[in-house]
Amino acid sequence: MFIRQLKQPVTALKGVGKGVAKAYENLGIETWADLLLCAPRSYEDRTSFTSLSEIPDGGQANTIVQVVSHSYFGSGKKRTLKVIVRDADESGSQRASLLCFGRNFLERVLRIGSLFYLYGQFQRHFHELQSSQFEMTPVLPDGSLPHDFGKMIPVYPLSGILTQRIIRRDIAGILGQCGVLENELPEYIMKEHQLLDTDSAIRILHEPESQTILKSALKTLAFTELFYLQLIGRRKTNSTRTGNKNLKNTEITVLENRFIHSLPFSLTKDQMHALEEIRRDMALAAPMNRLLQGDVGSGKTLVAWISALRVIQEQGQVAFMAPTELLARQHAEKAAGMLEPFGVRIAFLTGSVTGIARRNLLKALEHHDIDIIIGTHALFSEDVTFANLRYIIIDEQQRFGVVQRLSLLDKASYPDVLMMSATPIPRTLALTVFGDLDISTIRTMPVGRIAIVTYLVSNQSRERMYAAIKVEFSRGHQAYFVYPRIESDGNSNLRDVESMFKKLSQEMYPGIPAALIHSRLPENEKVDILLRFNRGEISYLVSTSVVEVGIDIPNATCMVIEHAERFGLAALHQLRGRVGRSTLQSYCFLVYEADLSDDARQRLMVMKDSTDGFYIAEQDLLIRGPGEVAGTRQSGFLKLRFASLTTDLPLITEVRTAVDSVLKKDTPLLSASHATIRNVLLHAPPFEERSMEL
Ligand code: ADP
Ligand code: MG
Repeated sequence: MFIRQLKQPVTALKGVGKGVAKAYENLGIETWADLLLCAPRSYEDRTSFTSLSEIPDGGQANTIVQVVSHSYFGSGKKRTLKVIVRDADESGSQRASLLCFGRNFLERVLRIGSLFYLYGQFQRHFHELQSSQFEMTPVLPDGSLPHDFGKMIPVYPLSGILTQRIIRRDIAGILGQCGVLENELPEYIMKEHQLLDTDSAIRILHEPESQTILKSALKTLAFTELFYLQLIGRRKTNSTRTGNKNLKNTEITVLENRFIHSLPFSLTKDQMHALEEIRRDMALAAPMNRLLQGDVGSGKTLVAWISALRVIQEQGQVAFMAPTELLARQHAEKAAGMLEPFGVRIAFLTGSVTGIARRNLLKALEHHDIDIIIGTHALFSEDVTFANLRYIIIDEQQRFGVVQRLSLLDKASYPDVLMMSATPIPRTLALTVFGDLDISTIRTMPVGRIAIVTYLVSNQSRERMYAAIKVEFSRGHQAYFVYPRIESDGNSNLRDVESMFKKLSQEMYPGIPAALIHSRLPENEKVDILLRFNRGEISYLVSTSVVEVGIDIPNATCMVIEHAERFGLAALHQLRGRVGRSTLQSYCFLVYEADLSDDARQRLMVMKDSTDGFYIAEQDLLIRGPGEVAGTRQSGFLKLRFASLTTDLPLITEVRTAVDSVLKKDTPLLSASHATIRNVLLHAPPFEERSMEL
């Protein structure tokens, strides 16, 4: 019951309509759990009291007052209520004026003679204390003090039409309804590290009584966050794996060998090296925990499949998790084409596989009639059971929440894990967070790849670009046109998918088959379009950045990115990586608006000058500063709400010892029966395509 409550969308709260929900979404808040974890930017400390008589020359008042009288000044529209109040304590001598600009309705609220809690900033003016910035909360008839009296008041990040009052109201609403929040950490860890329970920590976060208690709450929340973050990288490394793990040697298996020799090309040196490293890991008693990084198209996925063959030959099952349904499907199709001839049984599972099909599939998985299952985060739904899951491959790992990655691990005892990323992660960062994560890097591109030629195209000189692409069409090649928006919002100058689709298909390329694709299309339509694009029935796609990740159409040679100045380097690099995936010469056109900012100009120059993902990531760091490590902030990777990787180093160390001791005890921490906030995050959809559309 309770976990369902936490999963509810914010709109399930009284008073939260579309506008507020939209504003919350901008802050990354969709569910009640998100809202509970919304960390205040700062706090207003109202714990020490200051009466009016203590600030005769002005300053901050924080006290109880009585309303003395009302009057008005100004006339017409400017007629403004002025409320005289005085200290409610015995002294009662000091008076002050509250100027109610735009708030004349307060006449009805601030009744003469009644007591109010007052918080406000006062100035001495015309021989009186005045304030136009104040908050008043009634002291209740029974004399009880208002809720925020003498507390530390949280100040939340805002967006859109949100106000502090709305966020405070909504959080208080949830805390009032949600009962006691379940604990996220084992008792003994809490004791040992002097942490609060989750319920107290969250409540204190939003309603702290003092600085001291707030400190413990913040420590608890940062600790919990780092704890779960580290769990994924720090599984039982010091214990031997049980079960049927027979891969004692590092020799290449028969199946691997046959497959490699069947390829129409040879592996690159870096691919072979990565495979060796993986083989070595797999032969060890401790489970593999490896990050395979390399540029888009460098052949990471192929490495993953080859290493999967090794596991399959030893009767293990393999789970391959992709960030979106579209990508999962594409991987499944490609894998089927490559691996089924070798007797590998492949299945595809996402949230959209339901009913009998799903039941049959799950049964087959449980009976080991499936060797490789490819899917989205649906792979770790509660009803999915494996006969012998030994190997988990995570594509574009930065797009998954840590907890999502972690929960897949629950499906097996000590599986080997390979995470793939085209966004290089600074090594120190990875080590700090993931503990014993190993890294393989593919730097060399497959031979025969011709570097993509990148042109910067000013908005006015686009005609030549259209002409050049027409030539590519005449050669039977294909193109992508990417725009930041799906549809026009009427007044902005941003070109959008819908109007440009019309323009391209009617004016530029009449008679050339095209399709429009964006995140709002139903999944099956998207898939159908990509299949037709893949078969060459469509010559160009007009799309949003949904094509950013992983889509692999070797015959596509042109990538047009409009309003390129609005995209970050990581996104531009990913998008450009959709072309140049064969031996054909490919082109990338970055169309920009005049009046580029310095940063935007630098980004575009970097793109023009380099196709090296590692170099681009470094430049990204230089241009944006270390505050936003390549792609991490947008992608949700390392989405830390409470902990800081720079200032919390001692805490990170402390958490490591805690994680160690939990791993020794082997307590399941994220089983779906736990109604914790973290389990809600776990079931949230992964970072979605739509959030990449501007
Ligand atoms: P990544 O996962 O790094 O984006 P993929 O493994 O999907 O890259 O490879 C991209 C394309 O290059 C695929 O079509 C793949 O079959 C092909 N490929 C992979 N390795 C090589 C290689 N050594 N030589 C030629 N082509 C390769
Ligand atoms: Mg890939």
